[in-house]
Amino acid sequence: MEIVNDAHCQLSRTRVRAVIDVHSVDDIQSAITRCQREGWQLSMSGGRHSLGRQPFVTDGLVLNMSGLNRILSLDETSGMLHLQGGARWTDVRKFLGSQPERVPWEVHQKQTGADELSLGGAIAVNAHGNPLGAGPISTDIEWLKVLTAGGEELLCSRDVNADLFGLVLGGMGLFGVVTEIGLRLVPTQRFVRRSEVARTETLIEHWDALHVDYQYGDMQLDVNPASDHFMKRGILNLWQSCDAPATPASKQLQADWAQLITLAHVDKAQGFREYARFAEAVNGSVSTGRDFHWDTYAPGYHAQLERHLGLPQGGDVLTEFFVPIEALEDLLDYARNEIRRFGVDPILTSLRSVRQCQISYLRWARCDYACMVMALHVDDCPQQLARLDAFCAAIARFCGQQGGTFYLPYRQFAQHADLLDMYPNIHEFVEEKHRRDPSGLLSSDWFGSLLSFLREAPALGTR
Ligand SMILES: Cc1cc2nc3c(=O)[nH]c(=O)nc-3n(C[C@H](O)[C@H](O)[C@H](O)COP(=O)(O)OP(=O)(O)OC[C@H]3O[C@@H](n4cnc5c(N)ncnc54)[C@H](O)[C@@H]3O)c2cc1C
Repeated sequence: MEIVNDAHCQLSRTRVRAVIDVHSVDDIQSAITRCQREGWQLSMSGGRHSLGRQPFVTDGLVLNMSGLNRILSLDETSGMLHLQGGARWTDVRKFLGSQPERVPWEVHQKQTGADELSLGGAIAVNAHGNPLGAGPISTDIEWLKVLTAGGEELLCSRDVNADLFGLVLGGMGLFGVVTEIGLRLVPTQRFVRRSEVARTETLIEHWDALHVDYQYGDMQLDVNPASDHFMKRGILNLWQSCDAPATPASKQLQADWAQLITLAHVDKAQGFREYARFAEAVNGSVSTGRDFHWDTYAPGYHAQLERHLGLPQGGDVLTEFFVPIEALEDLLDYARNEIRRFGVDPILTSLRSVRQCQISYLRWARCDYACMVMALHVDDCPQQLARLDAFCAAIARFCGQQGGTFYLPYRQFAQHADLLDMYPNIHEFVEEKHRRDPSGLLSSDWFGSLLSFLREAPALGTR
């Protein structure tokens, strides 16, 4: 037996039978056979950045997909990148960085704030980045090879095994192991960055126009609950394609991430001032898309902060909520009050946009949404975690009432009625899972709790 944990917060300790390092499809097939023989369950992990035990199953085997990480080919004409399911964004970056200038392709989107995330993990949650006017990553996936619970490797796409394709994209690793991926890249462009302090009402007022004029964007809000500007202003970052030459690398500034994250914990007012100073310095700089997607945190930073600041053990827990743009202002008002009422500690709150997803079966992007991403500091103690979950459940319920939703790869906090409102086909999703994997071989603690949750709750249609 061994204990595994998530990489970012270390708040998902789980006892598993063993971790299997995967280097080939045969390794996965052997693990499936072993689980079938022994009656064990099997889960799979990539970068272990989901925060609700999605990659682990108690007393089961865990596939560590990190060794199945080769970039297999790039079609220089179409921009199709063929890679293995355990490859991380860092592998993609390294590969693209090694390509000659004449190969004009780059990634369309990836998750922000972390690079050591696998493509298989991104597909399992249907991840999204900060493009304006684009759906989640499923829109960039052309085809997948998936090893099912029955041990069969199937190709799927919009045309071939389309049902499986939709189930795997956003399917939380329950419908098979993604072994190979066809990821569509986009032509390399240069972007000029506009960064300035702005009011949230200005963002909301100009929302549609920003989607026409800019290709990427987000707003990092002032997260100081003591300030009159709390979640009413932020740094608006926008990237617009341009023909201007790139700013020389020596002049391309990087935010002092360690300083900003420390200030977010101990002096949020100063943190905002520092970030505003950084925004002013980078405003007008020109970079290629190859440069600006990459954005990671220092592994183990929270343990270091705990040592330096004398904090108890804990983490900065991520969570994401979505509402139609018409409801964003109300969501911000509601969240502002609830943060103060619950006394939770926001370290980061950013706003983004995502377009409706048509492909994934278990869709979180059911409409065009404004997105609110939050990182909330929490001590590793039951009372604080319960308070955090209650806060998230309240925000999720509010979003549901506005026709919005919340994101599944983080902690499980939603109340039953809210889950059904926001994921109305979740029963059908589970039925499909039982049909395709009757023995429940591929599983996770996240899925186990979902099943108990659905079993305990009133049947669909009785509400
Ligand atoms: C700091 C941070 C920043 C983040 N930023 C964003 C963001 O900007 N946008 C966003 O959308 N999300 C974001 N996330 C969430 C992140 O996208 C998901 O948690 C994602 O699943 C992480 O990928 P991973 O490789 O770490 O997957 P893991 O956590 O290892 O696994 C997550 C899920 O993927 C499944 N899985 C893993 N590998 C495979 C495979 N090969 N085949 C099939 N299923 C597989 C697992 O079973 C599990 O259900 C962020 C998370 C953190 C901690």
